[in-house]
Amino acid sequence: MYNPLELSKKIEKIVVENNLKKYYRFRPTGFYGGIATADTVGCNLRCKFCWSSNSVWNAMDTGEFYSSEVVADTLQGITDKKGYHQLRISGGEPTIGKQHLIQVLESIKSTYVFILETNGILLGYDKKYVEDLSIFKNLHVRVCLKGADSEEFSLFTGAEIGFEYQLTALRYLRDAHMNFNIALVSTHQEKKQNFFKKLVEMNLEKVMIEEEEIKLYPMVRNRLQKEKLLHYFE
Ligand code: SF4
Repeated sequence: MYNPLELSKKIEKIVVENNLKKYYRFRPTGFYGGIATADTVGCNLRCKFCWSSNSVWNAMDTGEFYSSEVVADTLQGITDKKGYHQLRISGGEPTIGKQHLIQVLESIKSTYVFILETNGILLGYDKKYVEDLSIFKNLHVRVCLKGADSEEFSLFTGAEIGFEYQLTALRYLRDAHMNFNIALVSTHQEKKQNFFKKLVEMNLEKVMIEEEEIKLYPMVRNRLQKEKLLHYFE
């Protein structure tokens, strides 16, 4: 078991240097109907089903440092070339390195939609982070919940805490009137139903929910098998 907040600090020291952050790939992808993607390095969770595990488990030896300006220019170059209107940071956890992320957003033209794919832990921990992001009107936040309650969260991530931060992130995003949606990983029907009831209590029943499908790439399948979790996802 680990504490995701402590892990965030440890990983930030590896993947962020001043205004620079580590990335391992820039690419056009077909997600969301076409989006320019920068894959960053480092995460504050260790989800057992993580497909981008090299960038997560081995942050020290993966990727190179890029400035926020280069990240923004490269993403916008891909977007223009491909005729897209959306861009994102994916791979690891983009909220690690707040200053870098804010500077990337400042460098992106407001005519593009920026999709921030996050597990929400750092947003739930720091209300000011959400408030600082709320000035970017072209930002859409996709919060991926790793389980429908604390128990499932800990089972899937191996973290001792974190689910409450994910829920708090949703509250902060709601209060800041931001565009966001939920991507939910859960394999337990009853927990899911309870979670949907909780969303109603939080006045979040209108937020769009995607059920995230876990892709069983061979590496992911082997890891889940080793952890005796494969049956949850087959
Ligand atoms: S939050 Fe995403 S990148 Fe981080 S370990 Fe989980 S699946 Fe991987």
